[in-house]
Amino acid sequence: MKLPESPHLRLFLRRLALGIGLAVLFTWLALRQPQGEDARLLHEEFLAMGTIVSISLYLGEDQDRADALMALDRARDELMAYAQRWSAWGDGELGRLNQRLAEGERVSIPAALQPLFAQAAQLTHASGGLFDVRIGRLVEIWGFHDEAHYRSTSPDPATLDAAVAALAQAPMLDAAPLAYGPAPAVRFDFGAIAKGDAADRIVASLRAAGYANVIVNAGGNLRAAGRRGARAWRIGVRHPRPNREQRVLATLNIDGDEAVITSGDYERYFEADGRRYHHLLDPRSGQPARGLQAVTVVAPSGALADAASTAIFVAGPQRWRETASALGVDQVFVVDADGRIEVTTALAPRIRFADDAAVTTVR
Ligand code: ADP
Ligand code: MG
Repeated sequence: MKLPESPHLRLFLRRLALGIGLAVLFTWLALRQPQGEDARLLHEEFLAMGTIVSISLYLGEDQDRADALMALDRARDELMAYAQRWSAWGDGELGRLNQRLAEGERVSIPAALQPLFAQAAQLTHASGGLFDVRIGRLVEIWGFHDEAHYRSTSPDPATLDAAVAALAQAPMLDAAPLAYGPAPAVRFDFGAIAKGDAADRIVASLRAAGYANVIVNAGGNLRAAGRRGARAWRIGVRHPRPNREQRVLATLNIDGDEAVITSGDYERYFEADGRRYHHLLDPRSGQPARGLQAVTVVAPSGALADAASTAIFVAGPQRWRETASALGVDQVFVVDADGRIEVTTALAPRIRFADDAAVTTVR
């Protein structure tokens, strides 16, 4: 197929392909079901936050299908507005704040952004700086903010080192941030927490509208509530190095109200000189974090699970357990560079791994 001329359209198609690849794998198990049982399962899928977002709900006995479809449309609109607000490189509230920071101004943090800024500050503190939303400038230097700018070589070391040093000098966020800066080296990027937080919000607002059985999948960041009719929602976690035989590494049921969120080195990356350079950066070095292929966190809150999966990934094989405890998450599994799995005792009893997976349970 010949690619279209317009760079925007090309970018859109590339994103679509990436998003479909991710989303389909995750929803596959959640939605696959015996025939004839479909009628009460409604589904809406769209492009947002650089990925495919899908929202599904399971209708109660007395609930009207047309009303539910309208509720799904409202949820989509809400998510699109959220995505715009939190885009680091767009022209929403966060994008404009970043613009002013880049111009050397001190900025006040809009009220609507304050709660997630405060949560991010707390998580940065608890993770010892492994999760850090001030990281946008480093992400930009690598080109991971935008598929159109993916690099094929690592960035100039001097540029990267200067940006790392400037970030280390920049002020930390206050515990309850009302203003920030001046800090022209900082660009706020909520990419490691916003998809989980957005999923929390969608579940909450659908529930407030009377829909208790919901599943939201934002590019592999899953948040579910209630049940899928007679049984629990079933989640499949993608294999970080899938092949023909094995695309799903693990499955688990969600019965209640939980998020299952994965950070992996396969979501955005390029390869050069036989190495993989991916989008999960260690803020201390500016380099992609080494040693793990994927981290999955199961927790009641999508925002927490999302930020924690990123921090635990950056912590690496030696330090992931202490980082998980510091963040207050106990249901975690990690896949190391050789594909070996370590799963916590809290998650092990309820998750099922592929038959040939090498799994160790750890405290
Ligand atoms: P994904 O967005 O692929 O689901 P994550 O939730 O782990 O994965 O978020 C990764 C994104 O977060 C990156 O694309 C980047 O924008 C940003 N990011 C990268 N490294 C960090 C970090 N150490 N702390 C906070 N955000 C990060
Ligand atoms: Mg994350």
